[in-house]
Amino acid sequence: MIHPNTELKFVNNEIGNGVFATEFIPKGTILYVKDEFEIEVSKSRFNKMGKLHRDIIEKYSYMDERGVRVLSWDNAKYINHRCDCNSMSTAYGFEIAIRDISADEEITDEYGMFNIPESVKISCGCSNCRQMLLPTDIDNNYKAWDVLVKDAIEHINHVDQPLWDILDDVTKNDLMGFLLSQDEYRSVINLKHNNLTKKSPDKISGNQNNTHAA
Ligand SMILES: [Zn+2]
Repeated sequence: MIHPNTELKFVNNEIGNGVFATEFIPKGTILYVKDEFEIEVSKSRFNKMGKLHRDIIEKYSYMDERGVRVLSWDNAKYINHRCDCNSMSTAYGFEIAIRDISADEEITDEYGMFNIPESVKISCGCSNCRQMLLPTDIDNNYKAWDVLVKDAIEHINHVDQPLWDILDDVTKNDLMGFLLSQDEYRSVINLKHNNLTKKSPDKISGNQNNTHAA
């Protein structure tokens, strides 16, 4: 489910629709929670689908760490990618604002975390645009993305969280464990499907690899 202070708007003919903030949304705000209404499509179910359904799933879903495609029931599926996105996925089952988002600003995501099966050309128009999304983006960028996500998560208790109530108890416990310094931060590399190493960077440092920071 997407944050309530958002709306769907037409961006342009090339991009189509996008999701925009209707009010100021501060850094650290949970923008999307993978809730119980999301449509989950397993690999075998996807392979049995006809082309019409497969095309919709490919366009609007993301693939989680289990290899399951998740199609949002609400406007979350219209969030576009930008290399200088203002929202990022976390390994806690939600997305978070990694910087302040103004009213009327488009909410954008990092699709490099979505287990895309093959390279895709992009035209976000951002400075330092990567031009292509690659299946290996998360391997190459997770340390820089962790710097942004970890920093945003540390703001969670300091801003309004309209979506807090739909987080499940396990997620809340995991989050509080991290925020109270009882558990280590969970790296976004855990979002990678078939990730055999389940890396958690021993040290979050610098962002020298990050060419698209906000
Ligand atoms: Zn770009």
